[in-house]
Order: sequence, then structure tokens, then C-alpha cells
Amino acid sequence: MIIEDEKLSLLKEKLDLLEVLEKSKRKSMSWKEKLINFFSVNQELQKARSTYNDNLSFITAVKEERERTQLRTTQWNQYQQFRNDIQNLPRYTIWKNAVYAKKGRKCESCNKSGNLEVHHIRSLHSIVRAYQIGNIKETKMQVLLWDVNNGQILCKECHDRTNSSIYRV
Ligand SMILES: [Zn+2]
Repeated sequence: MIIEDEKLSLLKEKLDLLEVLEKSKRKSMSWKEKLINFFSVNQELQKARSTYNDNLSFITAVKEERERTQLRTTQWNQYQQFRNDIQNLPRYTIWKNAVYAKKGRKCESCNKSGNLEVHHIRSLHSIVRAYQIGNIKETKMQVLLWDVNNGQILCKECHDRTNSSIYRV
């Protein structure tokens, strides 16, 4: 960003200089000279002006995009941290075991019995968003999170193919 800002301030300096130069020249000119000058110096001035404006809008757009990306990264990291916190709750283990007890130790999609995971049919991400769950305390009241019927046994491969897998790291 420093480089972009420096570039911008250099362009601005050049533009200011050209403007001052143009003004001072114009003062001592006859109208004919002014007319000729308009097409010579003024061209350079216009070019500097448009270069500056182009760079200004480009650099501003880059800065804005960078801020947006950083914001998304922060939100993403916060959500992953929150997911971890939920999964570390003793209640999460209880829920998983209850789903295994009910559905058995086999992938409900492909019947494999290795590498099993418990999948939230209505995804964790969707529940957290829909019920605006903001902290661990609030997870305790969310029945859907702990509903055995909302659990499904899937092997890792099948789990990774679910739509909600994009919300997992
Ligand atoms: Zn499977």
C-alpha cells in the first residue's frame, strides 16, 4: 500500500506543478499564445489529470477490496473458532454418540464403516445463522443443534460432498 500511496502522491505533485506552470504562463500570454498553449501545455495537463484520476480510482478500488477481504477473513476465522468451541462441548460428544446409537456405525450414504463422522442434516452454519447464535451459552437453548434426528452418519468422503462442507475447514 505504501508504494501505491507514494505513486499517487508523485502523480499529484506532477499534476500540481503542471497546473501552476500553466497558470503562470497564461498570465503573460497574448490571446493567440493562449490558444496555442491550450493545445500544447493543456494536453500534458489533461494527460496528467486523467493519469492521476485513473490511478486514484484504481488504488481506491484495490484498497476497498482489500478491506472487504480482510473483513471476510475475520468473520470466517470467528465462525471457525465458534464451530470448534461448539464441537468441544461435552454436549456435542453426547449428541454424536446418541446419533451413532440410533443410526449405527455405517455411512448412511455409501454403507462404508470406516472414517465415520456425524453430519448435521440442517447444517451447523445454517442453524447458527438462522437463530443468530452469538455465543456458547446460546447454543444450549437451540434444540435443533442437539436433535438426534438432525444427525446423520457419513464417512468423511460422503461428508465432504455435502453442500455444507464449504463451511468446514
Ligand atoms: Zn460414505
